[in-house]
Amino acid sequence: MYRTHTCGQLRIEDAGKSVCLSGWVQKVRKLGAMTFVDLRDRYGITQLVVEEHAPDEVRETVARLGREFVIQAKGTVVERASKNGKIPTGDVEIRVEELTVLSESEVPPFTIEDQTDGGDEIRMRYRYLDLRRPCVRRNLELRHRMAQLVRNYLSERGFIEVETPVLIKSTPEGARDFVVPSRMNRGQFYALPQSPQTFKQLLMVSGFDRYFQIVKCFRDEDLRADRQPEFTQIDCEMSFVEQEDVQEVFEGMIRHLFKEVRGVEIPPMERMTWKEAMERYGCDKPDLRFGMRINELTDIAKGKGFGVFDGADYIGAICAPGCAGYTRKQLDELTEFVKRSQIGAKGLVYVKWNEDGTMKSSVDKFYGETDLRAWMERCGGQAGDLLLILVGPKMKTLPQLCELRLEMGNRLGLRDKNVFKALWVVDFPLLEWDEETQRFYAMHHPFTAPKPEDIPLMDTDPGRVRANAYDMVINGVEVGGGSIRIHDSALQSKMFDCLGFTHEAAQAQFGFLMGAFKYGAPPHGGIAFGFDRLASMFAGLDSIRDVIAFPKNNSGRDVMIDSPSEISREQLDELGIELQKTEKK
Ligand code: ASP
Repeated sequence: MYRTHTCGQLRIEDAGKSVCLSGWVQKVRKLGAMTFVDLRDRYGITQLVVEEHAPDEVRETVARLGREFVIQAKGTVVERASKNGKIPTGDVEIRVEELTVLSESEVPPFTIEDQTDGGDEIRMRYRYLDLRRPCVRRNLELRHRMAQLVRNYLSERGFIEVETPVLIKSTPEGARDFVVPSRMNRGQFYALPQSPQTFKQLLMVSGFDRYFQIVKCFRDEDLRADRQPEFTQIDCEMSFVEQEDVQEVFEGMIRHLFKEVRGVEIPPMERMTWKEAMERYGCDKPDLRFGMRINELTDIAKGKGFGVFDGADYIGAICAPGCAGYTRKQLDELTEFVKRSQIGAKGLVYVKWNEDGTMKSSVDKFYGETDLRAWMERCGGQAGDLLLILVGPKMKTLPQLCELRLEMGNRLGLRDKNVFKALWVVDFPLLEWDEETQRFYAMHHPFTAPKPEDIPLMDTDPGRVRANAYDMVINGVEVGGGSIRIHDSALQSKMFDCLGFTHEAAQAQFGFLMGAFKYGAPPHGGIAFGFDRLASMFAGLDSIRDVIAFPKNNSGRDVMIDSPSEISREQLDELGIELQKTEKK
């Protein structure tokens, strides 16, 4: 037997017991003739003590221990002279009578502690050591717990978990697919699923009624910050439902998680239309932890002889409370911020409403106090506030104002990680026009149903059709999204028309789905949550990497197993793949 207890288990009540523990050496300290060892496992740390008159073998063994050795210690639980109130086992120690080295360790490349000396790169290379650190381990424990809660919550409500295939078919919509060559079907490829979307819809046609799956999905995107090429979704689908039915179940699930994991009751979630989200927050995932909403000034600021404003499509502002005292330097910083290429504004106009009641702006030449005051009032400002104004094409300027608003939220400390503001964003546009390819794309995906009352617009003004789609947003992060689906093959083929598919192309790509719809498809809808993101939010972390056991880096590489990697000539030949000569890195 390797152990009678774990390293997190023993308490003062156990004093006098003979026990056996196994674990990793966290630390060895010599104090005179005594040696103390901190023994660590997943459950905690227990102190071992090797006393002066311990058996010779024990004293010899303890003398050669190094950090991260795996050892087994037998001995007696005794009350500690100097107790450690910081750990649950801190009242006791084990007087060691037998000590065995189970496995030696080289000196680890970084310290296995919450505050480690290891940088990101090295920790990822030795991720198996990084995972020994309690703070990292706790993230995976939390993730497990959340998965468990989700499974129970959904199972109790009649959902069944069904596995869908991982080798599927490439489709040109959405993100880029990862593809897998087929040896048995030369020249043909599988694709890894970006989501089980079509399969879950087929399961509804099959009558499964309520499906879920905690499932890996794959998207070959250029990795923006905090994306992983493979990630996990809580994927769900329901039959005979309308939007509200889906929202009710999944709002319940998220609130249940908040209660169980974070111990907080979050209020019922507000519904905000996409249009309102865009106009008041500049994006479709508003952070509602703070106000500072966007106000349009176009109608009152245009036409006063200031060229930049007069020629503008849109003029919008946010009012930063209590910031009238901002210095030249601070205002320059904000101007630089909005002019960064990622944001792309041309400049920033400000108005200060000083505490003494006077107004000062960067456009004093063109606007008098009455104008400035009107702008301030539009934005709900008062003495002491600072108005920040951006101009340009509406759909470009709103996202810029969104970034500026979030930046001001950060500066003013209004984005507390321990405050949670959740909402549903609804009524998304069904289609999105792409200038480059001169065609419409589905904003959610091609199976999303239009709002019934907007169906006629599909023929006349497709850009104005609203979708029966909904996103759940928490603290400015889209944690989940879904829609009511098209369940009628005629409407589905009309949708493919809008997307510019020929009949043949639609048949080739999605014929199986439209075919299935001919055999009695129930009305259905669903949603998928980004599980990694949800877990990292619940853990209070900034990055999803921290809740993934073996994540990839920003170039999509696993630096521990060194992947992706080349494959042999033989493998390539077998697959019938001829590589173009590429320059060696
Ligand atoms: N499959 C969709 C996605 O991955 C979610 C859904 O509509 O259920 O975003």
